[in-house]
Amino acid sequence: MRYVSTRGEAPDLGFADVLLAGLAPDGGLYVPAEWPELPVGSISGLPYPAAAARLMAPFVGDDLDDATLARLCDESYATFRHPAVTPLVQVDHHHWLLELFHGPTLAFKDVALQLVGRLFDHVLGERDRHVTIVGATSGDTGSAAIDGVAGCEHLDIVILYPAGRTSEVQRRQMTTVDSPNVHTVAVDGTFDDCQDLVKAMFADAGFRERLNLSAVNSINWARVMAQVVYYVTASTALAGPVTFCVPTGNFGNVLAGWIARRCGAPIADFVVASNRNDILTRFVAGGDMSTRDVVPTLSPSMDIQVSSNFERLLFEMNGRDGGMTAEQLRRFRSTGRLDVEADQRREWIEGSFRAARVDDDETLEEIARVHAETGMLIDPHTATGVGAARRLGGAHPIVTTATAHPAKFPDAVERATGVRPALPDHLADLFERPERTVSLPNDLAAVQTFVASVSRTPHTP
Ligand SMILES: *Cc1c(COP(=O)(O)O)cnc(C)c1O
Repeated sequence: MRYVSTRGEAPDLGFADVLLAGLAPDGGLYVPAEWPELPVGSISGLPYPAAAARLMAPFVGDDLDDATLARLCDESYATFRHPAVTPLVQVDHHHWLLELFHGPTLAFKDVALQLVGRLFDHVLGERDRHVTIVGATSGDTGSAAIDGVAGCEHLDIVILYPAGRTSEVQRRQMTTVDSPNVHTVAVDGTFDDCQDLVKAMFADAGFRERLNLSAVNSINWARVMAQVVYYVTASTALAGPVTFCVPTGNFGNVLAGWIARRCGAPIADFVVASNRNDILTRFVAGGDMSTRDVVPTLSPSMDIQVSSNFERLLFEMNGRDGGMTAEQLRRFRSTGRLDVEADQRREWIEGSFRAARVDDDETLEEIARVHAETGMLIDPHTATGVGAARRLGGAHPIVTTATAHPAKFPDAVERATGVRPALPDHLADLFERPERTVSLPNDLAAVQTFVASVSRTPHTP
């Protein structure tokens, strides 16, 4: 299996190199050179980890042997607290939730990052290499990335977060991990300041090379690949075709669903749910892909305006022409508006994607409604999906991806229902655990000095 860049100017690579590279050197994202046919019919009756290994094998190719891939899947999904790993739960006669939040940090990002951490450690070990992962987080991604790599021998991770601007649960999920390769930094600044510091560290070529800087952000192909699995297991369990409704930020999760369908899963179409940050809804519903300012909502992990993974769909829409995709994105960056031809929309969007925007009031109403009707508590991200699914659900059974555990966003859930969701047992003592973090000014030199001081990547000071 070979991978090509969506911007057409990078050499093609195998799976392990794509995993370690993240972003392609031409600024594009890696996609398989050809979409494989997945063994969709062969997974019935298999436990989730075994199904995952079988479904991902065509994407991994010869870079990992089957036994290693199966072992890494077993280890990754043993960290989940439900025997089905991603259970389907029925909400009404034709609406299901696909619960993706039973992993260690209570958000769907665990499904991918538990595996990606282990893949990194395995490949780096084989190559006798060591990397330093740096990242910025506003909450969910940082804790999932930390949990996915904690204890790994061949990598260190340093996560920057804006001091005082994450929820206490989110901060403690990062700062209470006691592992010699995990480091967190409270930056005196905003999330954007943290992201700028990370970008500046990558832009400093000397620093980047000295410490073998790496990233595990949402554009990494291996994260998308790991998410393809639950679209296949859920749609085949329900003997599809089904509609999936996906609460969306970076478009990574819904793109994984599109790939599952492209590679043979019985999926009819997708409903994209957004909150007030609705660039994707405006695009799908009316062809308007133009950026606006990000507004804070009750579903902060969807407070995004530029959905980085959309580039992979755009590449398909352009007939896999990397030059055309790169040019389109250049124009988007300079004008804030992405222009897509009417016939491209008809071919690629209509019939495949529908979209709805669900604001905070409606999010609270959906949390209350689901609680009143079923007794279940759902988180605000999931609630945007449930609202969109109720509005746009059609002929097929509809499955909404439940992307976070309600206890991760207890304030909104309590406001809607009067019930404060309890943390699961493994986190019940989160507020008693000691925190390990350092506070630094919003200053590149100070952050670089810290990263170099904790990195175990062999380097000269
Ligand atoms: C990251 C996240 C999302 C958005 O997922 P994308 O893949 O970025 O579209 C939705 N809900 C929760 C809880 C998340 O953490």
